Amino acid sequence: MARWSVRIDPPWSLDAWRDAARLALRHAVPPEQLDWLHGEEASLLDAPPLQTIEAVADTAHDAPTYVSKAFVELAATCVCHRDPQRLPLLYRMLWRIAHGERGLLATPTDPDVLRATALSQAVRRDSHKMKAFVRFREVPGEQDAFIAWFEPDHLIVDRVAPFFARRFTGMRWAILTPSRSVRWDGHVLTFGPGRTQADAPTDDAREELWRTYYANIFNPARLNTRMMQQEMPAKYWKHLPEAALLPQLVRDAGDRVQEMHDREAQAPRRRIPQPASGLPVVAKAAPATLDTLRDAASACRRCPLWEPATQTVFGEGPADASIMLVGEQPGDSEDLSGHPFVGPAGQLLDRALRELGIERSALYMTNAVKHFRFERRGKRRIHSKPQITHVNACRPWLMGEIENVRPQVIVCLGATAATAVFGAGFNLMANHGRWHVLDDGTRAFATVHPSWVLRQTADAARDGAYQLLKGDLQQLVEVKRIR
Ligand code: SF4
Repeated sequence: MARWSVRIDPPWSLDAWRDAARLALRHAVPPEQLDWLHGEEASLLDAPPLQTIEAVADTAHDAPTYVSKAFVELAATCVCHRDPQRLPLLYRMLWRIAHGERGLLATPTDPDVLRATALSQAVRRDSHKMKAFVRFREVPGEQDAFIAWFEPDHLIVDRVAPFFARRFTGMRWAILTPSRSVRWDGHVLTFGPGRTQADAPTDDAREELWRTYYANIFNPARLNTRMMQQEMPAKYWKHLPEAALLPQLVRDAGDRVQEMHDREAQAPRRRIPQPASGLPVVAKAAPATLDTLRDAASACRRCPLWEPATQTVFGEGPADASIMLVGEQPGDSEDLSGHPFVGPAGQLLDRALRELGIERSALYMTNAVKHFRFERRGKRRIHSKPQITHVNACRPWLMGEIENVRPQVIVCLGATAATAVFGAGFNLMANHGRWHVLDDGTRAFATVHPSWVLRQTADAARDGAYQLLKGDLQQLVEVKRIR
């Protein structure tokens, strides 16, 4: 019985596995007659390389084998698993599909399908953890260069690296792992051999920022250590600057909850701020400056919106602006460019400001939610309204901006922004254009979002909506110190 061997290089490459599997299938090499090798591994039975089969085999089946997209996706994740049996397993499944079991994947109890599904899930989970728990540290002495150390369970660096290239496009960074490293220079991903942890910086200034931020957003009343360990297994803690705080925060949680109860008993909270409204207490989460906030927000994972979006879109404008405009969330153009209010709604807002003689460059412009929430329809990304959980998760960033800029006036554009600033239950259409005074003395009003104006289909309705927006914004003309 002829026996063959095939070496897959790199061993996590779907293309390399596919080429070898196609060749073996063409020459009808049964799974049990093929040794799958990687690295320096040698064939125990000295089987000749599969690539020499063309010279010695006299038959080949040229009819291609078609497999479902689901099988290709399964194979793409399985090849990244460290299990040495994954490559023969995938070939055995391919063989079975090519020999009449076309519905193999529809049999979830089949032992091969079960095993492949388990491997695939493990790789997906590991990829997700890498996206969530990689922490970049500044390279001492270099500007805008960052290195992260990470220890994935599986061979996922090539698979996950494009995600970081999209997410941190403007940074120069490298991720080092024990078996593989990757570098991004702003244009190209370059892969290299594994490194040691000693090659990565251990600490930088933003560690303290992360810790300050995490300590402020930690809510002892919602502590669930079992969930926490599921979501953030202890093995990842060494990568996370905030993890050093966890034991103390968990120990103190009981006392802090009691304290919160005592405080609430003395001063009942008002949920819907009326003219004398209060900023949420998380305003105190603000670290030192807008720049440090912006840096920390660029790696925020407080809600799931970060994952499909391109980047965090933080506020922009003078750090001492008198007026702050707060919108709902970035749109498609903002998500791609990284700047707020640059899409069609931003242009309509520009027009209204221009007509009122208000300089946009004097305003600080931001959004209640800093990542783009959307649904895919074909190639298009359609705006999807953020939920209250997203607004709440993102509120510390907005409060940090307010705390730093200390504007005289805040204008909320749309109901989501009004909810973020005034609290749930704010009736926009009943209260648009009406001034409120927040607890810290900041004056604020809400008006419609320019995208709502654009959504009006009839010309007359759109014109009426525009006049409503412009009429409300007219009040800003009287605000002193517009620069
Ligand atoms: S939307 Fe806000 S809270 Fe959610 S991940 Fe983005 S920055 Fe963080």
